[in-house]
Amino acid sequence: MSDTAVSAAATVINGKAFAQGLRGRVGSAVEVLKRDHGLTPGLAVVLVGEDPASQVYVRSKGKQTVEAGMNSYEHRLPETTSQDALLAKVAELNADPAVHGILVQLPLPAQIDAQTVIAAIDPNKDVDGFHVINAGRLMTGATGAAAPLVPCTPLGCLMLLKHHLGNLSGLDAVVVGRSNIVGKPMGQLLLAESCTVTTAHSRTRDLPAVCRRADILVAAVGRPEMIRGDWVKPGATVIDVGINRIDAGGGKTRLVGDVAYDEAAAVAGAITPVPGGVGPMTIACLLANTVTAACRAQGLTPPDLNAG
Ligand code: NDP
Repeated sequence: MSDTAVSAAATVINGKAFAQGLRGRVGSAVEVLKRDHGLTPGLAVVLVGEDPASQVYVRSKGKQTVEAGMNSYEHRLPETTSQDALLAKVAELNADPAVHGILVQLPLPAQIDAQTVIAAIDPNKDVDGFHVINAGRLMTGATGAAAPLVPCTPLGCLMLLKHHLGNLSGLDAVVVGRSNIVGKPMGQLLLAESCTVTTAHSRTRDLPAVCRRADILVAAVGRPEMIRGDWVKPGATVIDVGINRIDAGGGKTRLVGDVAYDEAAAVAGAITPVPGGVGPMTIACLLANTVTAACRAQGLTPPDLNAG
């Protein structure tokens, strides 16, 4: 991957290029699994309803799954699907030996409780890493056959951090945001790398001062450009998870992160852009998790796809 130095101080961490490399490594691993073990990893994605953003995500997931040489199974269910019907679909996929990964696209319609559905997915096929068993395995540092499937977005952030910084041991890390899908697992992953981790949130007092302590600052808030340049410690590595669409005038919109990019890039040592930073890593990590799940299902050691 080629990270590039920008005008002021920061190196731009090129997530798009890293994700492309990761997808290439996934594709090579899949070729080996097919050739040596007759194993084609399969990912099933279930979409309930017509949410336009979800449709775009599901299409990209299916396309990239096929490009990596894996089997993609798409299940589109109507908006009116009952919770029982969705649970029946999940049970069918749990029992299908050709399906190694199951992803139920969120958000779900109001009549369906997402936690109930996630809890019904076989934890060993839970390639989103949202099942409590996987959260618990991550929390307890389980390894080997019991190692967790890790949520894709924080896994992607960690890969970028390790690629850029190498050993993270002893670094002060601040994660802004405590959601189950990004903030909390991000904190656990950094703790496992022996960072000193602070998880900040909407009730954190003097957030700018907390952020200024960070050697690694991860923003997963969902508030456009909330983190300003003077919140960033000089030389820090900034990972911007936020994806916010804002008005760009003239009837147009543009994507920005949770970090005020130009200000932060003038102070940071390295920073991920939006778009082209964390975003492309999420699907690449989903493919990597599917390979991991397929290998474990066959009693094989999953390949190390981390190296950049
Ligand atoms: P959530 O809305 O679930 O969580 C947001 C977190 O930010 C909460 O913990 C909240 O705190 C905290 N927060 C909100 N306002 C403030 C504030 N003023 N100061 C400090 N903390 C605050 O969001 P997600 O974790 O799902 O997503 C975060 C961002 O990442 C979004 O922009 C989303 O679009 C993006 N995203 C990108 C992905 C990708 O790149 N592929 C994947 C997933 C998400 P509290 O808990 O106290 O309410």
